[in-house]
Amino acid sequence: MILGGGIAGLWTLARLRQQGYNAVLLETEALGAGQTRYAQGIIHGGTKYALTGKLTASSEAVSEMPSIWRACLEGKGEIDLQQATLISDAHYLWSTGSLASKITGFFASKVMRARTMELEPHERPGIFQHKDFKGNILRLDEPVFDTLSVLRAIASPIIHAILNIKPGSISRGPGNIEVDAADGTHYRFSCKKLVLMAGQGNADLIQKAGLSAPAMQLRPLKMVMMRGGLSEKVFAHCMGAGINPRITITSHTDTMGNIVWYLGGELAEAGVNRSDEEQIAMAKKEVASLIPWQSLDNTEWAVLDIDRAEVRHPDGHRPDTCYTEQHDNVIVAWPTKLALAPLLAQQIVDMLEADKVEATGGELPAWPEATFADYPWCEEARWN
Ligand SMILES: Cc1cc2nc3c(=O)[nH]c(=O)nc-3n(C[C@H](O)[C@H](O)[C@H](O)COP(=O)(O)OP(=O)(O)OC[C@H]3O[C@@H](n4cnc5c(N)ncnc54)[C@H](O)[C@@H]3O)c2cc1C
Repeated sequence: MILGGGIAGLWTLARLRQQGYNAVLLETEALGAGQTRYAQGIIHGGTKYALTGKLTASSEAVSEMPSIWRACLEGKGEIDLQQATLISDAHYLWSTGSLASKITGFFASKVMRARTMELEPHERPGIFQHKDFKGNILRLDEPVFDTLSVLRAIASPIIHAILNIKPGSISRGPGNIEVDAADGTHYRFSCKKLVLMAGQGNADLIQKAGLSAPAMQLRPLKMVMMRGGLSEKVFAHCMGAGINPRITITSHTDTMGNIVWYLGGELAEAGVNRSDEEQIAMAKKEVASLIPWQSLDNTEWAVLDIDRAEVRHPDGHRPDTCYTEQHDNVIVAWPTKLALAPLLAQQIVDMLEADKVEATGGELPAWPEATFADYPWCEEARWN
């Protein structure tokens, strides 16, 4: 039994059902309603984490992920993502003309030779072919996915094993779980392992399971969205002098077909200490300074406050990789990154095998089809 229908829960559900387990996923809202719908969708290969010039534990943990996801997209991987949408084949890393960022860019490219490629001017993405662009640009082997299309691709063949439930309706007895489905029907499932993959919801579930560990941390972001007058899609980190990219831009489409630039990186990390107005002013300043040839005359702006939920790190930093911890028949898990969902799912499969949990099939009731969340940039109210 898996609780939580974000990328972690769905990838794990797909893997467990492949192994013959009669696994079921319970979701209190809509699939993807947590962090997953806010993700920028970049399948990091570790380059961003190697900006200091050293291979860190973080960069090593994610280095295999782009090839695992690409294989799934081609229908040759551990799960079938052929129905998912790739929104960019690569992510890019650009430095401005300043000396500091050029040096950092140099180290990143040298350390990560196999994963990066310096581009000739004519090979650059459209926006960086502008005559006023003065920096360097590297192509990273980091595909960018439409994350909700990934969830749909994973869920579609196993939708019968996903149930929307009423929040707070779960109760646990010895070897079983009882829940009220969103339509009010009461179900009782026998349950050999309970896997908590509810993102931020894990803290409450850990407590309700009577566990005192693991502890969770939240790392807030203040993301920015902009639309209007954008003709190019951008998928790139801009290197600053520090370890974090100064800004990370991905591009999406709202319900009216407008291009939306979604801005993260240091702008969003440091933005948590700014008001919405200050954050928008800072975002305008950054875009005007980094891409000065992009007109901002007709742009609309919006801010998104969202927390990343992970296992607690002693100094509050990002954990190096995904995390699992088992207490009796309860496993608590966080992927830390969307990109790491395959690694996390493999760890759960291995834990069940190590505990010799038998894969027993069986019929599931025909319940109403689970619903999917929408992207924040498709919610018009956010733009006002
Ligand atoms: C702004 C932002 C950008 C990001 N960009 C990237 C990126 O580009 N690349 C990358 O690799 N990672 C990225 N991440 C990280 C990534 O989004 C997360 O690591 C990942 O989505 C977490 O997935 P999850 O399934 O653990 O949790 P979630 O997506 O939060 O899903 C948890 C689910 O559990 C449900 N739930 C909650 N409580 C309960 C309960 N009691 N019972 C049942 N269900 C429950 C929720 O409704 C939700 O659907 C980003 C994160 C943020 C916030």
